[in-house]
Amino acid sequence: SNRPTGRPRGPNILVTGTPGCGKTSTSSMLANATGLRHINVGEFVRTNELHDGWDDEYSCYIVNEDKLCDELEDTMCEGGNIVDYHICEFFPERWFDGVVVLQTDNSVLYERLTARGYSGRKLSENMECEIMQVVLESARESYKPEIVMAMQSNTVEDMDRNVETLKGWIDVYARTRSV
Ligand code: ADP
Ligand code: MN
Repeated sequence: SNRPTGRPRGPNILVTGTPGCGKTSTSSMLANATGLRHINVGEFVRTNELHDGWDDEYSCYIVNEDKLCDELEDTMCEGGNIVDYHICEFFPERWFDGVVVLQTDNSVLYERLTARGYSGRKLSENMECEIMQVVLESARESYKPEIVMAMQSNTVEDMDRNVETLKGWIDVYARTRSV
């Protein structure tokens, strides 16, 4: 059989995409609907101090990727995690059963990022990241393309549909793998 080795608590899903695309909203809704554990990586890095200080230019922490991956390893081996982060390429490939890339139309994303207080270079670089589909390309390079799911995230209806789709996907995973 080609079943992956057991994840006692269920599949691990990476929810990624440009900042503002809806990762945290979607992940927390999916966690509530399924009982899976939501790991907001940005928060996890802050609370566990898995960074090497503050980047003034980009107003964000400089993540220590090795420390972060070490800290998450046992949890990821248990399974049943929804990992929410805008960067996808430094996690071990073996961690994830599914990789979701959320995508948002330019005008919608622009509104969300300005509402969040982004301006100048931080705003333009994130807009460019979405326009160039940087995260989707990076996900397809870092994981088997067949586990990468691109999903539109413009409206609340989109979010509801994405959560339903993923809930169904998780149910199938549970039914087809002896856990
Ligand atoms: P991310 O975690 O990817 O940065 P958030 O989940 O924090 O994004 O969402 C950013 C903002 O956009 C929030 O105010 C959220 O309510 C809103 N939002 C996200 N996704 C959607 C969506 N599909 N439809 C409507 N609003 C959304
Ligand atoms: Mn977020």
